[in-house]
Amino acid sequence: TAKQRGKGNWVRYADGMERSVFADAQVGGDLRRALDAGEFRLVYQPLVDLAERRLVGVEALVRWQHPERGLVSPAEFIPAAERTGLIVPLGRFVLRETCRQAAAWLAEFGPDALGKAGPNVSVRQLHDPDFVADVRAALHDSGLPADRLVLELTESAVLRGKQVSRVLQEVHAMGVRLALDDFGTGESSLSLLRAFPVALVKLDKSFVDGIELGEPGTAATTARQAVARAVVQLADALGLDTIAEGIENEEQARRLLRLGYTVGQGYHLGRPMEAAQITTLLAQQCRIAAA
Ligand code: C2E
Ligand code: MG
Ligand code: MG
Ligand code: MG
Repeated sequence: TAKQRGKGNWVRYADGMERSVFADAQVGGDLRRALDAGEFRLVYQPLVDLAERRLVGVEALVRWQHPERGLVSPAEFIPAAERTGLIVPLGRFVLRETCRQAAAWLAEFGPDALGKAGPNVSVRQLHDPDFVADVRAALHDSGLPADRLVLELTESAVLRGKQVSRVLQEVHAMGVRLALDDFGTGESSLSLLRAFPVALVKLDKSFVDGIELGEPGTAATTARQAVARAVVQLADALGLDTIAEGIENEEQARRLLRLGYTVGQGYHLGRPMEAAQITTLLAQQCRIAAA
């Protein structure tokens, strides 16, 4: 044990452990209270057709409006929510709210206005025995057609085991689509495409960063372009949709469109925003379509 390795080590080790366990217990309590108090809300980031610059979908991203700390980023609380298990009720809220909002947009603007809405799903949720029933209930209660819902999973989430595989098959059988998020950063992206009923891959931002620089370009730029091209070709060959994430300027958008990406996401195309702002965008689009 750490204790046998010497007093100094033990003190440091135990100290760090206790603090993190204590901190998790505390943050778990905080998250529970916040969930009950309605402090979590969703913002929506546009998924944009790169050629026509139309809104074709949204990704739902959770925010914590903390009474003292202000807006807390998911990077700060999702890991703790996963460790403490609070991600299960939090994820259920995100799923239900995304379905409710997407169904409302669908009812207001019609079937052509917004193709899909996607929440992120953590691996911990996939291990929850109620997950499939939760998805079914969220669809049923909102009236959202299953094929409008896209669940974003990271590769690490998908990797683990038979249970997850069965859950994903069941969700797929309902008509819900699955997206592999941050594609290309995991260890076995390619084998996952074969093993799971994936409908869409999201090219990770790290392959988009700097993709516009230099022609012929530096070695790093060329490598990014090669990955981006390979991913879209693979997806096309397998009949999967693609989204390029983290597009921050016009040149990146153009470059990705030339490489074969039809849909993109990023600050240049639209920041994560309140539902009401998405409603405004959809209303504008409807007016343009009608004109
Ligand atoms: P993600 O699913 O890959 O989401 C994309 C993240 O990149 C979002 O950060 C978004 O705001 C950010 N982003 C989008 N476009 C750009 C860009 O052009 N430049 C830069 N620098 N960033 C961009 P956010 O909202 O802070 O979320 C971070 C991560 O937290 C998400 O990564 C996702 O993994 C996780 N997350 C967010 N909401 C949820 C949720 O409801 N449930 C779970 N399980 N995870 C969530
Ligand atoms: Mg995502
Ligand atoms: Mg992503
Ligand atoms: Mg990401």
